[in-house]
Amino acid sequence: MKRFHTLPVLLFCISVVVLQCLYASAQAPSTLRVNAQRIHEHLSALSKFGANPQGGVSRVAYSDADMQGRNYAISLMKQAGLDVHIDAAGNIVGTRPGTGTGLKPLLIGSHIDSVPMGGNYDGDVGSLSAIEVAHVLQEKQITLRHPLEVIIFQNEEGGTIGSQALGEGLSEKMMNLVSQSGKSIREGTRAVGGDPEQLAAARRQPDSIAGYFELHIEQGGSLEREKIDIGVVEGIVGILHSDVTIAGFANHAGTTPMDQRHDALLSAARFIEKVNQVVTSVPGRQVGTVGWIKVEPGAYNVIPGKVVLGLELRDLDEEKFVRLFKQIQTEAEGLGRQNQTRFAFTEPVLSHPALTDKSFQKLIDETARSLGFTTKLMPSGAGHDAQEIARLGPVGMIFIPSIGGISHSPKEFSRPQDVENGANVLLQTVLAFDKK
Ligand SMILES: [Zn+2]
Repeated sequence: MKRFHTLPVLLFCISVVVLQCLYASAQAPSTLRVNAQRIHEHLSALSKFGANPQGGVSRVAYSDADMQGRNYAISLMKQAGLDVHIDAAGNIVGTRPGTGTGLKPLLIGSHIDSVPMGGNYDGDVGSLSAIEVAHVLQEKQITLRHPLEVIIFQNEEGGTIGSQALGEGLSEKMMNLVSQSGKSIREGTRAVGGDPEQLAAARRQPDSIAGYFELHIEQGGSLEREKIDIGVVEGIVGILHSDVTIAGFANHAGTTPMDQRHDALLSAARFIEKVNQVVTSVPGRQVGTVGWIKVEPGAYNVIPGKVVLGLELRDLDEEKFVRLFKQIQTEAEGLGRQNQTRFAFTEPVLSHPALTDKSFQKLIDETARSLGFTTKLMPSGAGHDAQEIARLGPVGMIFIPSIGGISHSPKEFSRPQDVENGANVLLQTVLAFDKK
């Protein structure tokens, strides 16, 4: 009799426990949050390496400060339970195995090098939040289906060097370039523990990753201005550069009448105005800039005979900025005729736009909204490691507001709450992606 009664009770108890476990595992990921205090402690500790008196950092790649920062990041990655190694390109890679068989790795990360006189958020927020994601998974004993790789790319500010090594690869010419630290890329890569002779080993094949998510500060002011919590990045803009030479005739500034001048600088001034007009003549978020100018001979008493200036156009749509460039060239011909000067453009140097994956955009957007955040789809006007990794598989980027739109400056700042929000969106996006 006793046995007869105990069995159903026992079965009932077991099923309750099982159901509770299932419920907990279904609930745990969505209620999981990052430890914001830990992220802020780490951000503050990282900011000491290369700290400058203005409150920012000068932690250019391969400098002593960069090495110290990297060692600190490695220690955090180990605390987060990651298996850490330096790849041949000098990137710090922390891995965590997944439960699925034959699944490609999911990558998250950013960079911790800075520009000279940089700030404490560009790259750092994304890197430390990616480590935090791994830390939370370890604490909660959650194993993803996908293998997870947390990557801190080397020398992002010097031209996305570490991420290029994974994607496009680095040319000999590139390896010989001298970086801000005074070391060549080759010397620097070796100094941070990479092996420049084995660079090919760091390279990954297209379609070799499940995806890459990067959290980053906006570096512009639109999210703060519009009071939006999270930016969902549509893509990283392409860039067109061309050097424009304006040839006039240098002559005496006192004796040459105003109607007989071939003033190259006057043409340049009108050209700069024209660039602005052309770029703003069509709807969209394209931008155009004349960022530098050289005047010859450059004296009070000589009419400028030659001007060289730098023209830059950026947009997510390459066809559009190429069309605007042609329009600017046509306008320049007209200006040259009016001012009796000649315009010559160098062959434009192009970096192609890198679009983020549409399904990743949707996932980030839905995840952020489910956490109660307002979102906005936006381009990234600045370059990022994600644009290089887009060659290997789908990428997604999460932006948080930059106060005052200031970046690459000691005044760069993102509110602690925004950092926390972004890190939670990253964590939840990773969990949601892994479920699919
Ligand atoms: Zn950055």
